[in-house]
Amino acid sequence: MNSETPIIQIKGIGEKTKSLYAKLGIETAGDLLHTFPRDYEMYELPIKISQAKSGYVCAIYAYVTSIPNEKKVRKLSILNVNISDGTGSMQLTFFNMPFLKKTLKQGGYYVFRGTAEKRGNLLIMEQPKIFSYEDYRKQCNVLLPKYSLTKGLTNQTFQKNVKAVLSQYEFQEEYLPQTILDQYSLKHDREAIETIHFPDNFDELLNARKRLVFNEFFSFLLLMKRNKAQNDHIQNQFRMFETADTVRFLEQLPFPLTKAQKKVWQEIREDLGSSHCMNRLIQGDVGSGKTIIAVLALLMTAANGYQGALMAPTEVLAVQHYETIKEYINLYHINLSPVLLVGSMTVKEKKDAYEKIRTKEANLVIGTHAVIQEKVEFQSLALVVTDEQHRFGVHQREALAEKGKDPHILVMSATPIPRTLAIILYGDLHISIIDELPTGRLPIKNCVVNTSYRTKAYQFIAKQVEEGRQVYVICPQVEEGEMDQLENVVDYTEKIRQALPPSVQVAYLHGKMRPADKNRIMEEFASHAIDVLVSTTVIEVGINVPNATVMMVENAERFGLAQLHQLRGRVGRGEHQSYCIFVSTKENEETMKRLQILNQSNDGFYIASQDLKLRGPGDMFGIRQSGEFAFRLGDIYTDADVLKEASDAVNYLFESDPDFSSEENRKLSDYFQTHNRNKVDFRSI
Ligand code: ADP
Ligand code: MG
Repeated sequence: MNSETPIIQIKGIGEKTKSLYAKLGIETAGDLLHTFPRDYEMYELPIKISQAKSGYVCAIYAYVTSIPNEKKVRKLSILNVNISDGTGSMQLTFFNMPFLKKTLKQGGYYVFRGTAEKRGNLLIMEQPKIFSYEDYRKQCNVLLPKYSLTKGLTNQTFQKNVKAVLSQYEFQEEYLPQTILDQYSLKHDREAIETIHFPDNFDELLNARKRLVFNEFFSFLLLMKRNKAQNDHIQNQFRMFETADTVRFLEQLPFPLTKAQKKVWQEIREDLGSSHCMNRLIQGDVGSGKTIIAVLALLMTAANGYQGALMAPTEVLAVQHYETIKEYINLYHINLSPVLLVGSMTVKEKKDAYEKIRTKEANLVIGTHAVIQEKVEFQSLALVVTDEQHRFGVHQREALAEKGKDPHILVMSATPIPRTLAIILYGDLHISIIDELPTGRLPIKNCVVNTSYRTKAYQFIAKQVEEGRQVYVICPQVEEGEMDQLENVVDYTEKIRQALPPSVQVAYLHGKMRPADKNRIMEEFASHAIDVLVSTTVIEVGINVPNATVMMVENAERFGLAQLHQLRGRVGRGEHQSYCIFVSTKENEETMKRLQILNQSNDGFYIASQDLKLRGPGDMFGIRQSGEFAFRLGDIYTDADVLKEASDAVNYLFESDPDFSSEENRKLSDYFQTHNRNKVDFRSI
């Protein structure tokens, strides 16, 4: 068995399981092994009821004092069970598990594991897992992997299948040179993969994780470095001059550019007119006004007789840019003739667009990167702007170069990263920073609350809607079952619909919907046909609906603060006061303290750095700081040290063997050409 073996050949996997795995994008044994646990669970020894702390997971060894009859609420069966261990008592609640009436014996001793919660004077636990004492002891103090699942696929099945693969898998030869393994104390690749799934202890797990994170960063930086070596020498084949078009556009805008925007625009103009091709990143917090800068650059390109492209990571964003630019054309009569190019367009619509691009009837193409890179034939592509970069990966210039000459490249990002990291991650680009927000924005009001506040929150939402405003609600998962006990978009939409007046229009949006449906929902939200949009973090990047004033985030504890900050950036974009409601399900102190940081600051850089200070190494699983750098495992904030090491390693290799001609380095480079799993990752979210 090797990385290409179809999973159907794994013992225990039939057609049904195969199709479940397909939903997760897992088709081969290699895919399965490279789907790492999203978190681990460690069963600790049972504690006394008197020691249980509200908001924390614990195991209680106790006996059943009573099993009342089950209650039925609509279709839901609710079973309450009381337990005691001499130090106190607790009430357990089970939903839709009526058979437990028979399994649990009065007077019988069991281990119950779940989150203890205080409700008034009562200590309760909902949906605990039940074990016999012996079974529980066997699993105690072992790190158990938890995988991202889909409905119908259990964690146990996943574990079993991974075990089966590991027992027969022919791993490839180690590809990193021994000197690098030694210098950075890295485990062998094979050992790291075995350990990440079934670690013996926490230290080993961290070591294994480090190696795998190193892999990701290393391959990414290696490709980037190679690209940079090539890019640095590219001559400017599209020298541009400033024309009256951009000046006139700026004069007509209802607001002046901020000082920071002016500076960046100056830098871009200089690049476009210089002897070398532009490779520039604009980094600016959400709402800092990057789009205008892109429009200016594209306008200058068109005015010089060339074509430009504006690429976005999602259709929703691409369509939004298209609408914005069309509005500018209407209002200010700027000389742009754009076409839209997204996957959900019909074959005929696409053909028309291709034709307009080929004949240069269109001087601007707006779309998703995949579509633009596919079949489009440009006549004179001189500038490519990519919004929310690095979902695209580092292969972009190569792909574009195939379209003809080397265009100028401008990438825009809202990910707050410290300068030292930016220099590593964007080593192939010059960096411009927009470090101020347009004036006149009211600061967003934030609150961090627990779930008991929901009723109040819904009343508040209803009132805002009545005043004509719109609302986002974010849930961490799409549908039930991917991760336990987290709110999901589909069910939550129903729940909030019930809680709000019937006149309020509620809809949902998530990444698994068809692109055409996503676009439609986004358009309806933008045109205010929808009042409340329940969504996953697909709306995190770039969406601009200035009339939206409330951002409510459920299970806020599951998100990295930097990501929450990005979400918050979706409101506070217009003239109205905006609000963020962060709902934490875990009411323990650290979580609340962490979320409070969002109250203290509106500065993304500050927030990310404070978040890191408060976390321990155990917290790094299951939480992401940055949605933008889509490494499978590595997180640019949490793993900044490893990033630095990988960067040093890549630099060392390049310095000691600049053209990669040694046997060892050629092997390495070949390996990454063919086995770079990240290449897929950067593009796929
Ligand atoms: P982001 O940097 O997050 O992409 P946008 O480009 O979407 O931000 O801009 C957010 C909003 O701010 C838009 O509605 C835009 O028209 C507005 N805007 C941009 N620049 C300025 C400015 N200098 N003064 C006032 N409003 C501005
Ligand atoms: Mg934007």
